[in-house]
Amino acid sequence: MKNFLSIILLCFFIPAETKGWGFFAHRKINRQAVYSLPPEMIGFFKQHIGYITENAVNPDRRRYAVLGEAEKHYIDADAYGDSAVFKLPRYWHQALEIFPEEELRSKGIGPWNVYLTQLSLTEAFKRKDINSILRLSADLGHYIGDMNVPLHTTKNYNGQLTNQYGIHGFWESRIPELLAEEYDFFVGKADYLERPQYAIWDAVTQAHMALDSVLHFERLLSSRFTEDKKYSYEERGGINTQVYSKEFTKAYHEMLDGQVERQMKRAIKMVADFWYTAWINAGQPDLNALVNIQTELPEEKFDYSKPLDVREHDDLADGQSSSSLRKAFLTAIWRPGL
Ligand SMILES: [Zn+2]
Repeated sequence: MKNFLSIILLCFFIPAETKGWGFFAHRKINRQAVYSLPPEMIGFFKQHIGYITENAVNPDRRRYAVLGEAEKHYIDADAYGDSAVFKLPRYWHQALEIFPEEELRSKGIGPWNVYLTQLSLTEAFKRKDINSILRLSADLGHYIGDMNVPLHTTKNYNGQLTNQYGIHGFWESRIPELLAEEYDFFVGKADYLERPQYAIWDAVTQAHMALDSVLHFERLLSSRFTEDKKYSYEERGGINTQVYSKEFTKAYHEMLDGQVERQMKRAIKMVADFWYTAWINAGQPDLNALVNIQTELPEEKFDYSKPLDVREHDDLADGQSSSSLRKAFLTAIWRPGL
């Protein structure tokens, strides 16, 4: 009976496999960014493209195990009032002068964290520390990806304040999983960013301004689709799971005029720009000299024995995502390469 109940509860928890762009999109973003790098970098990154791709999702897995991780993935810009996204301090030390750190963390520190990760990556390049370069590059790709998702910039992150529960996973997971095959991911060569911290805030601002259409068009379409047309069932991990129907997904994608594809492309370009900028700022270390070094890249281990009770972006309204379910999901359901 207990096992049966666990399985039933896991059914409700399955949407959580798709966190922040969804695992599929995060991997895609990191992988594609490698192809925009200049000749001095691409050999090294291509050699480790498997690591960069697979570890694109580690920051999401870390959220349950490492205190202080969860708030790095979002910013509730509207929790600071109207138009706050234009006014919030661009640098972390400036933000700390105005707001208590606890408040900043409770509303998410996404954009500031991107910049701090960028600085750490620059230092790793200076040391020619292969493990750190790869881990931080993978992490940075994830965080930049998240900052290009409109629903990562709002306190209404899963439509829970506007009766649109589930929109988070719909936008960032269901749409790319169904439609990314048709996307054109060519973004050109990486550019040097004079002020990366401003670049990430520009992305956050742009993503936040897209929020209106994200919510508005879903509401509009929902009024045109009956429930049985809006949703369908698909097998996920051997379990029949309710998902947004293909028809509804395509209609939404068209109404948004390719917004998801655009945001994914922006993320890819930005990841390449940030990696490239870190390398330049580190004094352009010779990465080709690292290509032939055989290293055993350590697999990051997560301790889920006491999973943290962190924000779920796309859980269910009735609070079924308890920490025990989270643990069950992370240990039993999640598999690399899914
Ligand atoms: Zn994330």
